[in-house]
Amino acid sequence: MLDDQRIRDDTPGIDGSRVFLDSAGSSLPPRPVLGTVTAHLHREAEVGGYRAAAERADDLGRVRSAVATLLNAPESSVALSDSATRSWLDFVTAVPLRPGQRVLISEVEYHSNAVHFLHRGIPFDVVPSDDSGALDPAALKRMLDDDVALVSLVHVPTNSGLINPVREVVELAHARGALVLLDACQSAGQVNLDVTELGVDGLTGTGRKWLRGPRGTGFLHVRPEIADRLTPAVLDGSGAEWTGEREIRPRADSGRFELWECDVAARLGLGAAVDYLLELGPERVEQAVRTRAARLRAGLSGIGGVSVRDPGRDRCGIVTFTVEGVGPDVVRAELARRDVTVTTSTRASTRIDMDRRDLAAVTRASPHYFVSDEEIDRAVGAVAEIAGER
Ligand SMILES: *Cc1c(COP(=O)(O)O)cnc(C)c1O
Repeated sequence: MLDDQRIRDDTPGIDGSRVFLDSAGSSLPPRPVLGTVTAHLHREAEVGGYRAAAERADDLGRVRSAVATLLNAPESSVALSDSATRSWLDFVTAVPLRPGQRVLISEVEYHSNAVHFLHRGIPFDVVPSDDSGALDPAALKRMLDDDVALVSLVHVPTNSGLINPVREVVELAHARGALVLLDACQSAGQVNLDVTELGVDGLTGTGRKWLRGPRGTGFLHVRPEIADRLTPAVLDGSGAEWTGEREIRPRADSGRFELWECDVAARLGLGAAVDYLLELGPERVEQAVRTRAARLRAGLSGIGGVSVRDPGRDRCGIVTFTVEGVGPDVVRAELARRDVTVTTSTRASTRIDMDRRDLAAVTRASPHYFVSDEEIDRAVGAVAEIAGER
């Protein structure tokens, strides 16, 4: 069990009146994260960025290893960046593509990922979902052939509590020589991740969502066994060494996917966020999040005119719903008026899935482990009021 009171005392954003249900958007940081970031900004103002960074060199070096511990990956497989999308692009643009090769995506592909394939003219096919709404491994098996270079798999979509199967996808893809890149942006920090177990070739995540870290932070893991098949599209003077006037040598480890410049305060904050999670225990956190989401779904399901929209047999901390006769933006605004923070997820972010389910938008509530049962019940009461007023 988590120490709920300590956790709530550690979270300055919890003040007893506001109910925060947007950890899938940008969560509330705990005090150690906030303190680390602000202290570093102050120190930079006192002694300059270089000296301030030098003073924290050990802690900066430990950020990568904290992320590696979280993923059960070797430290040399992790590269830090300024967003999950940046890290995702770093992997995808490094995958060698022969003419005629294509990519497979799932129905819950995230807009930025699809935009990239379309922008570069990379052909893709969509692996259909099974009756539960999760990627259908049997369909994937039929679609895999020697011309599939990559399977782009979203672990947890931005618009529902669905959890896609990973291990099965990896086994099928690897049997046909395809790589698997896991977009773990919505799972990292709420679902316990072990890349050794999952077997993915790449994994990307962000700091600001379920990890409760600062904005402008992200990370990539590259499976060491495939690292030398990937050539980064961009390299700078820290990703590669300028060894002769006409000669460079890229770094052997995943550091070649990092640029030298970064927001040092944010990066230290990411390290503090991961340390905080490791101390709580990712398995306990996953359980606590699932329990809260289940309570919220049960409460919402009991309200007339409210439909919970989460597909999947195995569901995590993202709870989506619609209210008959009230648009999701109105629901969000009405909830905000009652001090309940949620967000709207629109068709544009997950077009294939939303089109298939004929949804224009849903209200998304994402309770983290720091949300109390009483707050969840208050949010349910607020939705009942809004549904009753229509
Ligand atoms: C938020 C999100 C991203 C993008 O993360 P950024 O940190 O904004 O780049 C990617 N995939 C999914 C599924 C997301 O929800």
